[in-house]
Amino acid sequence: MSHQYPVSLIDLHMHSLASDGTMTPTDLVRRVHAAGVRVMALTDHDNTAGLEEARVQATALDIQLVPGVEVSSEWNTQGIHIVGLFIDPENNILQGGLSRIMAFRDWRALEIGRLLEDAGISDAEAGARAMAGSRMVGRSHFARWLVREGHCADANEAFGKYLGRGCKAYVPSDWISMPEAIGWINAAGGSAVLAHPGRYKLSGTRLRALLTEFREAGGIGLEVCSGSQAAGDREHLGCLARQLGMAGSVGSDFHGPNFGHTAIGHLPPLPDGVEPVWDRAGIHLH
Ligand code: AMP
Ligand code: MN
Ligand code: MN
Ligand code: MN
Repeated sequence: MSHQYPVSLIDLHMHSLASDGTMTPTDLVRRVHAAGVRVMALTDHDNTAGLEEARVQATALDIQLVPGVEVSSEWNTQGIHIVGLFIDPENNILQGGLSRIMAFRDWRALEIGRLLEDAGISDAEAGARAMAGSRMVGRSHFARWLVREGHCADANEAFGKYLGRGCKAYVPSDWISMPEAIGWINAAGGSAVLAHPGRYKLSGTRLRALLTEFREAGGIGLEVCSGSQAAGDREHLGCLARQLGMAGSVGSDFHGPNFGHTAIGHLPPLPDGVEPVWDRAGIHLH
């Protein structure tokens, strides 16, 4: 945890009820304001439905809202999340792409429900949908339902036993390719940033290969400071960013209070010499 740091003024990765966060966009922006953060990006998984509500509240509280999205994609069978910042949410190429992912999510939810049924757990798909605060259904909603129904002690156990890669109710991901996702973000005038690079558990060599391809496909940066990253990740990722000429972003990946996740804005500053992604995008932060 990074609580020894003063609250960062900028936090460019968080979720609302429009994906698997637990707060409405309005309440999330209020919490950002209360935390003392001045610039936020709402980056819900695979949809932008929360952005308009967030924009209204951000304007009221003088919070600078960066329109964002976190796109689920794939690189060599590895699920990779790409944060798109400064996007135009009205862009047709982006929205067309996101609707394909949302359709895959609907299909996958039925599959997860079927696999849980095989494991002796009924009605999970309907249950997970009821836990979701919007059209987007994800594994977090299944996890919360499994906990509520007493099948698992907590979300971690739900992922470890049923929902995680290789587990009983795991549906092999069939997300779109990483270059395609980057293409949609760029088409919408956004900046593509590799989300939480430490979470993929890649060796240094593999991570460098991933980032090289990410950059070749038009991606511009990586989250050098992200929520709940391991000690030493910030320095290592800062080095990679400098060596590869990529920009750095900072984001908590906040999903709601009462989670193990990092609190809003509890992030260290970018290491020296790492160009901030907001500078690269030519955005003036007031
Ligand atoms: P999905 O995009 O539907 O495949 O679900 C991925 C989401 O599940 C991530 O964005 C996290 O919010 C959540 N998640 C992944 N692993 C865990 C875990 N071990 N415990 C709790 N939540 C998790
Ligand atoms: Mn999530
Ligand atoms: Mn993610
Ligand atoms: Mn996220």
